[in-house]
Order: sequence, then C-alpha cells, then structure tokens
Amino acid sequence: MRDAGTILGELRQRGVSRRDFVKFCGVMAGALALPGRAAGEIAEALAGVKKPSLVWLQFQSCGGDTASLLRASRPTVTEILLDVLSVDYHQTLMAAAGTNATALLHGDAIAVVEGAIPAKDGGVYCMIGGRTALQIVKDVCGNAAATIAVGNCAAFGGLPAAAPNPTGAISVSEAVPDVRNLINLPQCPVNVENFTATIVHYLTFQKWPELDAQRRPLFAYGKLAHDSCQRRAHFDAGQYAEQWGDEGHRAGYCLYKLGCKAPVAFSNCPSVRWNGGTSWPVEAGHPCIGCSEAKFWDRNTPFYEHLDGVDGYGVHASIDTAGVAAVGALAAGLAVHGIAAAVRRHKADGEDEP
Ligand code: SF4
Repeated sequence: MRDAGTILGELRQRGVSRRDFVKFCGVMAGALALPGRAAGEIAEALAGVKKPSLVWLQFQSCGGDTASLLRASRPTVTEILLDVLSVDYHQTLMAAAGTNATALLHGDAIAVVEGAIPAKDGGVYCMIGGRTALQIVKDVCGNAAATIAVGNCAAFGGLPAAAPNPTGAISVSEAVPDVRNLINLPQCPVNVENFTATIVHYLTFQKWPELDAQRRPLFAYGKLAHDSCQRRAHFDAGQYAEQWGDEGHRAGYCLYKLGCKAPVAFSNCPSVRWNGGTSWPVEAGHPCIGCSEAKFWDRNTPFYEHLDGVDGYGVHASIDTAGVAAVGALAAGLAVHGIAAAVRRHKADGEDEP
C-alpha cells in the first residue's frame, strides 16, 4: 500500500474519510493561528509522515491533562491515540503493568510530562517502579528528542508547588535544566487542541513552534486572553458584573470585579475554547483564574478578588465604583423593558393598561 505506515494510511485503514482528515487539518490551522489555506499544507505534510512515538509520564497531578486528552473531540481520542500519534507509554492508559510497562520507556521518543516533580527528601514523595519521579524525568527527558510539559504543574510547578510546597515540587525545566526542545503548555489542564496543534506544527514544518520567554508556543500564548474576550466591549465601556447573578452578570458584562485574571493571562482560550470549541470559563460566566501563568495559585488567589492596576474604564484606582452606574442603568433599563413587556401582554389579553 502506497501510504502504509503513514498517518494518512493509518487513517484510511481505520475508516477515517479524507473529508474528515481535511476538516481536522482545518481545525489545526485555526489552532495554530494560520490562514485557512494552511490546512492544505498541513494535510499534505501529515499524509506522508510516519507516526511519532510518544512517552507520557505522569507525576504529581490530578490527572486533568490525561482527562483533557481523553475528552478530545476534535480530533477524537481514538484519532489522537491510534491514528495521529503512537503513544508507546502512558501510565494511565496503557494495558501493560510492572516491568513490562517500564520496559516501554525509551529515550528517542517525544516525552510528554504531566504533573510536577517532588524534589524534597530525595524525591520520595512520588516513586514509580522503585524509582523517583526525579530520576525518571531526568532519564527520559534528558534523552528525548523533545519534551512537552503539559499543564501548569509540569510547566511551572502548579498546585503542588504552591506555598508551602511540602514536597518541594518543581517543574520539568527545574528538574532537567539542560532538557532539549522543551515546550511548555500550561493551563489547568492543558487544552488538548494546543497539544495536538504543537505536534502537528512539528510534523508539518519539521520544527517546533516559536516560543515566548517561558517556552510557551506563541500561537497559543502570544496574546492576553483579555484582548480576545467576548466580554471585552463591556470592560472598555465600564460595564461590570458586580455580584454573582446580578443583572450585569446575566447580561454578559465583564467579570473583572468578580476576580477575572485574564488581563494578566496569556492564552488563546477565547478563540480555541474548550470541549470541542464549545465555550471557555469567561464565556460561561466564570472569571478566568489565570492558569496559563507561573505561580498562579500564589499570585492570583483569592480567585474572586479583582486585580489591581489594570487600566480600564475611567481610572483603575476607582475600579470598585466604576461600572456601578452602568449596572444601575442596566437594571433600570431591564425594569423599563419588563414594564413595557407587561403592558404589551395586557394589551394582547384585551386588558386595560395597568
Ligand atoms: Fe473578559 Fe475578564 Fe477581560 Fe472582562 S476582565 S473583558 S471578563 S477577560
């Protein structure tokens, strides 16, 4: 078979149509912030390449990044695991156990790390097969062609490293300072579309995407989430939700005063969204907690207190009073709208005006 062993060949074998494949490439072009025509280039490149081998390590984490991978819907987890990538080792998903599983660890693959690495007391707080996470990550990532740190814990230490950090949790870059081709994909958990797009970028262009100073791909972390937010016009207009469930909150006003940290968080959440492009926290009514940033547990808590010093409507120093008038006006507007609607209903029912 002409394309045996290639990604397209595998897709064909598994009954994935060319149309679905091209659609997937279109989604990837979007995630990579490339023009639509790049989908063709991606399709052409992916059709001919071999599946890359992946070794997925999991240490101090809640498993959220694996859950993100399992819940992928564009492409489905089957497509990721079986058709696009060759996941040779994944502690949570693979069937092998014990020494059979450990034998699958090898150094020439792309290493993916989920979770922080405890370094205190000789690393005894996370041991797998008699070895510390610290030994394993040094071994595997020290020899890997590239390492992708998925989720905030692997990229920056995340919750395990938050004060008082009882296990001495550290990130991949701290555990293996000389690691080759490290790519950080923070967020809590990783957005699987950014993960897949990173791999697709490598397969298409034979190089890893451009990174920022914190080794995050610019296509996903190049802009503040605040700058693409669907509620941004309300921020600029000084229209804020003041309380959970108030008129402003229900009308889709800005969540800055409820604690939104997106003005200091770099991510493509507003455009790529989550759960197959369905929504993201702010769109669903919850403030961003800034999980794409280092030390966000220490810096951004309490999560429901607003940031200081972000320029917005009027003078930021008066943010607690700015917007109250706007919400008041909205409430008055809704009340007028309610009265007018009631008048129309009464008229329709043939009643006198109240
Ligand atoms: Fe959107 Fe949050 Fe920025 Fe308001 S502060 S515009 S809710 S990102």
